[in-house]
Amino acid sequence: MKTFKNFIGGDWVPPISGEYFENRNPADVSDEVGRFPLSTANDVDRAVESAKRGFELWRATPAPARGDVMRRIGDLMVKRKEEIADLMSREMGKPLTETRGDVQEGIDTAYYAGSEGRRLFGHTVPSEMKNKWAMSFRRPIGVCGIITPFNFPMAIPTWKMFPALLCGNACIFKPAEDVPHTGHVLVEIMVEAGLPPEVIQLVHGVGESVGAAIVNHPGIPVISFTGSTETGRIVGETCGRMHKRLSLEMGGKNAMMVFNDADLDLALEGVLWGAFGTTGQRCTATSRLLIQDRVHDELLSRLVEKTKSLKLGDGRKKGTDVGPLINQSAVDKVEKYVDIGQSEGADVLTGGRRPQGKGLDNGYFFEPTIFGRVRAGMRLEQEEIFGPVLSVIRFRDTDEAFAINNDVKYGLSSSVYTRDVNVAMRAMNELDTGITYINAPTIGAEAHLPFGGVKQTGNGHREGGWEVYEFYSETKVGYLDFSGALQRAQIVNYLGTPD
Ligand code: NAD
Repeated sequence: MKTFKNFIGGDWVPPISGEYFENRNPADVSDEVGRFPLSTANDVDRAVESAKRGFELWRATPAPARGDVMRRIGDLMVKRKEEIADLMSREMGKPLTETRGDVQEGIDTAYYAGSEGRRLFGHTVPSEMKNKWAMSFRRPIGVCGIITPFNFPMAIPTWKMFPALLCGNACIFKPAEDVPHTGHVLVEIMVEAGLPPEVIQLVHGVGESVGAAIVNHPGIPVISFTGSTETGRIVGETCGRMHKRLSLEMGGKNAMMVFNDADLDLALEGVLWGAFGTTGQRCTATSRLLIQDRVHDELLSRLVEKTKSLKLGDGRKKGTDVGPLINQSAVDKVEKYVDIGQSEGADVLTGGRRPQGKGLDNGYFFEPTIFGRVRAGMRLEQEEIFGPVLSVIRFRDTDEAFAINNDVKYGLSSSVYTRDVNVAMRAMNELDTGITYINAPTIGAEAHLPFGGVKQTGNGHREGGWEVYEFYSETKVGYLDFSGALQRAQIVNYLGTPD
C-alpha cells in the first residue's frame, strides 16, 4: 500500500509522530487506497511557520500574476480530470458521472479565480471635500485554515482555497480524513502549476487533533470550515473567543415542494437526483418531499417504483446509480434514523435496510429509502440524516408548504415545482433558504454564484461567485488630500463654512 506525506515547508514530509491512518474504498473495504499521515499539533506548528513566510512572498505578487497561477491550476485539472474522477470515486464512493462533476466545479472555480486577478475591485467615490480623493481597496489577511468535509473532496477545497490564494493569502489545508487522496492530488497540482511552495501547506489527520490545532492556532487569523453543524459549533466557539474571521457552511434539511399543477415527470426525475445522488450525502440533498394533495398518491407510487429500480454498486462500475455511504458510522446513523422514523409512526415504503449479496457485502451500502406518512415536526423530518433517506409529507396549500419548509433549524436549499408564476415568485421571497430552485431539484449550484445558507446552515458568509472574495480580503480605505489645507470632515463643509 502506498504511503503518502504531508506538504509542509515546501516539501513532502512524513508526520512528526511517524504514525499513519488507512484510507479504504467504501465500496469494498478490502481495497486499501493508501496510508496517510496521522499528524498532530506539532505538524500544524511547522506548517504555520512556513505559511507565514509564504504569505509574505505571495502578498507581494501582483494579483493578475496570482490569477495566472490559478488559471494554470485549472489547465492541469482539465488534463487530469478523468484520473482524479476515478481516484475520487475509489476513495469516496460516488459514481464517476458525479466525481467528474466535482472536478469540473474545481476547474470552473480555478478559471473564475484566474479572471478575478484582473478585477479584485475596490471603489473610488467622491469625497465631501474639494481636492480630496477617497477610495477603498482589498488587502490579503494572512494564513487561512481550510477545513473541509468528505462529500465534495475536490470542489469544496477549491471553493475555499482558490479565492483565498487569489486574494494573496497563504493556506493550510486539512482534508476530511475519508478523502485524503483527492486532497493530495489537488496540492500536487497547485505546486506543479507554479504556486510558490510555502504558500500552500497540506496537513492530513483527524478533525479532533489536526482540525482543532488549526482552529486554535494564534498564527491563523482566518478559518473556513465546511462540515456538520455540530462540528461548526465547536469551531465557532473557538474562533469567537480568539476573534478570528470565520466562514461556516454546515448542515441542511432541504425540501422539494411539488404542487398540483407541476410537470410530474420532471418532478420525478428531479427528486430521484436530489434525494439519492451522492447517496444523499450532499448538504443540498433533497431529504423532504412535500407533495400537494391531488397529486400525492400518483407521484409517490411512481417514485417508489422508480427508486426500487436504482442500482446500488461501486461508483466506478458502469450502470451504478447509487454508491456506498462513506463509512460505518454513516451506515449506523442511517439505520438509527430508520428506527426513529418507524417509532414515530412513519412507513418505510421502500428500502430501509443494508442490502445483502450482489457483491455489496464488502461496502457501506444502504438501500435508497422512502418514508411515507411523515408529519411535520417528526425527528425524521427535522434532523439531517445525510444518507439515502427521503421523507414524504402531504400538504394542502402554499402557506402550509412554505411553513413546513421554513420550520427547521437549517436553511440551505429549497425547490418548488409549479407552473404558477405567482407561487414561484412567492417561493423566492418567502422560503428561508440561501438558494431556491424553481422546477429543478435542491442541488445544482453553479461555481460563479454565491453559495450558502441561512439559520444554522451558515454564519452569513458565502462561498463561490463574487461574494467569497469579500471573506478572504480586508477592505482598506485610503483618503488623499491634495488641497494643501486642513479640511475637517463633518466640521466644515466644502464651502469652508461650518456644517
Ligand atoms: P464533519 O463536521 O464531521 O467534518 C468536517 C471537517 O471537520 C473534517 O475535515 C473533520 O476532520 C473536521 N473536524 C472534525 N472535528 C473537528 C474539530 N473539533 N475541530 C476542527 N475540525 C474538525 O462533517 P463531514 O461528515 O465531513 O461532512 C458532512 C457535513 O458537512 C454535513 O452536515 C453536511 O451538510 C455538511 N456540508 C455542508 C456544506 C455546505 O456548503 N453547507 C457542504 C458540504 C457538506
